[in-house]
Amino acid sequence: MESEHLKVAVRIRPLLNIDNTRDVAVYTNEQNEVKVLDGEHYLTSNYDKVFQPESSQEQVFRFIEPALIKTLKGFNCTVFAYGQTGSGKTHTMFGGNWEENNPAPQVYYKDPQGRKSEISILKSLQGPGIIPNSITKLFADTETKQFTFYCSFIQIYNEHLYDLLHDARRDKSLRIRENKIYGIFVEGLAEFVTESAEDCFLLLAKGDKNRAVRQTRFNHHSSRSHTIFQMLVETDKANKRGVLKKAKLNFCDLAGSEKYDKENSMAMEHIKELKEINKSLSVLGKVIHALGSGNNSHIPYRDSKLTRLLQDSLGVNTRTILIATISPAAVYAEETISTLKFADRAK
Ligand code: ADP
Ligand code: MG
Repeated sequence: MESEHLKVAVRIRPLLNIDNTRDVAVYTNEQNEVKVLDGEHYLTSNYDKVFQPESSQEQVFRFIEPALIKTLKGFNCTVFAYGQTGSGKTHTMFGGNWEENNPAPQVYYKDPQGRKSEISILKSLQGPGIIPNSITKLFADTETKQFTFYCSFIQIYNEHLYDLLHDARRDKSLRIRENKIYGIFVEGLAEFVTESAEDCFLLLAKGDKNRAVRQTRFNHHSSRSHTIFQMLVETDKANKRGVLKKAKLNFCDLAGSEKYDKENSMAMEHIKELKEINKSLSVLGKVIHALGSGNNSHIPYRDSKLTRLLQDSLGVNTRTILIATISPAAVYAEETISTLKFADRAK
């Protein structure tokens, strides 16, 4: 269903050397259809947009740009990257090599159809992702106008919410509150006023560093948590209470959606992580589906921290974009199909 509130895209990343295979199972065409070969069957579905392995970061940014512009008019807007670990969520949201110690893999360009197999690293495939591109655009567009931007960086791990811009060692989980003036907010969350794109980039870097520290200290991988970079856009139009209207812009790099690792038995703590992630992603799926279908009764926002946090950004007068990221490799076909099913249900 074509909806103004919700757009669902699929991004197929290139085949990479880290896939350790040249077998692909994902095909696309100009009609925004994705076909996945599952054993002997093809599963076909279509989306608002399908990004090919050779699609650039710039093209992906242009897809979300209309929603971005809407936040300047006071609409809350959320962009999600959903997919299994390694499928390109962080690449899509933050950009190539954003995470420390993550070397750029080699790209088997044009290989997905199995015809060519030359290895090259294309400039257009690297570069900044949706968040830095959005920051650049917002500051360029509002240069001469009265806007104030506040940035926060949140991590949700095992249904606990942490501030990534505070000292990483202050491992204090924060509460979500709601009142009539501010709507939904996180108690004690740092909100930094930023005056330039550079200010925002510094905060992004700081959050990434803190995330890495948390990661080693708590022995869990970032793919086990949701990361949300939130910008509050304050316009000069005050509401009746004299409080300036802040539109919320949320960028969510979701926890890896993979179900379980068949090869390895899992430690108890990892089973708990997985349960929490599956639950929170399943609630998210229900909430987005309710939005897309226009059914506004019984939306289970309170069933997960993520949807509760985003409650007033996922409803009437909001814009939501879901980008499902997938690998073309045949070895991941099962996970890819499950990602596409999530995207299908969201529509
Ligand atoms: P995820 O965040 O979903 O776990 P990443 O974004 O870290 O996955 O991607 C895994 C690896 O694949 C990274 O090294 C990343 O640079 C690379 N990658 C992902 N998507 C693309 C793409 N569209 N083009 C080129 N490289 C990509
Ligand atoms: Mg990631």
